[in-house]
Amino acid sequence: MIDNRQFYIDGAWVNPTAPRDFDVIDPSTEDFCATISLGDQADTDAAVTAARRAFDSWSQTSPAERKELIESIYEVYKERAEEMSQAISQEMGAPIDLARNSQTTSGTWHIEGFLEAFDDIEWESVRKEKTGERIHREPIGVVGMITPWNWPMNQVTLKVIPALAAGCTMVLKPSEIAPLSSLVFTDIMHEAGAPAGIYNMVNGDGPGVGSQLSEHMDVDMISFTGSTRAGRLITAASASNLKRVSLELGGKGANVIFADADEKAVIRGARHCFNNTGQSCNAPTRMLVERSRYDEAVEQAAATAEKTQVNRASEQGRHIGPVVSEVQYNKIQDLIQKGIDEGARLVAGGTGRPDGLNRGYFIRPTVFADVNNDMTIAREEIFGPVLSIIPFDSEEEAISIANDTAYGLTNYVQTTDDERRLRMARRLRAGMIETNGNGFSRGSPFGGMKQSGNGREGGVFGIEEFQEVKAISGC
Ligand code: NAD
Repeated sequence: MIDNRQFYIDGAWVNPTAPRDFDVIDPSTEDFCATISLGDQADTDAAVTAARRAFDSWSQTSPAERKELIESIYEVYKERAEEMSQAISQEMGAPIDLARNSQTTSGTWHIEGFLEAFDDIEWESVRKEKTGERIHREPIGVVGMITPWNWPMNQVTLKVIPALAAGCTMVLKPSEIAPLSSLVFTDIMHEAGAPAGIYNMVNGDGPGVGSQLSEHMDVDMISFTGSTRAGRLITAASASNLKRVSLELGGKGANVIFADADEKAVIRGARHCFNNTGQSCNAPTRMLVERSRYDEAVEQAAATAEKTQVNRASEQGRHIGPVVSEVQYNKIQDLIQKGIDEGARLVAGGTGRPDGLNRGYFIRPTVFADVNNDMTIAREEIFGPVLSIIPFDSEEEAISIANDTAYGLTNYVQTTDDERRLRMARRLRAGMIETNGNGFSRGSPFGGMKQSGNGREGGVFGIEEFQEVKAISGC
């Protein structure tokens, strides 16, 4: 049982000003696995003050000095990878192999992308030689970072590392549901030699530390990943001092499969939807299939769901684990029931736990066919292993269904027709269009349009997010 109620402020672990215990629950067993403390206004203020003080010197360091620190973080992160994987697996239920091979390594992957991006950024440049006009890219200031539980280190490294690279200082508030990996990460920052005050970590919940950071007059930017609901509240609270708000929110990705798509397209799409137990903002949860291939696709997707094993996070293997919490479990159960009630055809899974798992927040991998885009399961982000299949008859209809959503994070296109692939990519309203299963390389910009948010994370784009552009004349 982990007991760590401390926060990390100004280069040291410190006790909360007014301890408020919070129990962390292992979603595989529903047992308590750790106790943390939720921060108060005084803790938030102390962390922001430390970050503000450190900004004076950190913002004046050279990119080379900052790169050196990030290289050191990278080395320590790799050394402590196993500890990190255990923490992620326990706090949010990722099966240990997924935690080791995807969750923890997403952090190393992003750090590598940022190290590469250092050389592609024009930190200071001359715009007009004759008049001595210059453009400098400067750090925005003190950043409040609020992260979710679904890909904890993916999100933390996508925020902390580029902010450091830009010369910002920061206060991280990880998800209170999955705070264990951030405790390890904070230790990594300390061991890597981060100067006091540049990185601070205060545990807390949304109404507490989350809101305090958003409202804070001495925070210059909030970088947030999580629900669209919280994104709205954070944006409103950030109006206090008109701070920049970078948002990475939910998604309801359409995966458009044309009749000429490669033979693995459906199985690949279903597996992608179930990966990480469906808890990914970019999950392809609406599978749009051209009519002539529709029946076959429904069968293949249902068979993929049946073959998807569900088990505890501590077990080795390629199964999926539980969802993160009782709240999420109940929400997903209600949405599955709603799918049935609204007339979608259940072809795999359904409500209740999978056989043999009576404890833990386990969901049956579920596939609905004959879904209509107006149904709740096609509109709401379910954040569980639930796939909705929708038929279409023409390219125009596919575009119209795909774009008929409040979200715009990732859409997917599967067709062997090169021209159509590009045509579709131009018409679909999303920050990322992944075609034919070709994943993005590190440093590629991750982010959405519409109610999926406004920021871009990763590589050069991710560092620029934390910069101000300064114009200088006569130098
Ligand atoms: P959430 O948005 O409530 O929590 C994410 C983070 O925001 C946590 O650190 C939380 O403490 C903080 N937070 C919550 N309310 C806040 C507020 N008012 N001000 C400041 N910070 C606040 O997410 P959740 O409730 O854990 O999950 C609900 C739904 O959100 C999920 O079902 C899913 O649809 C979506 N979600 C999306 C992502 C993503 O990656 N886009 C991640 C997690 C959850």
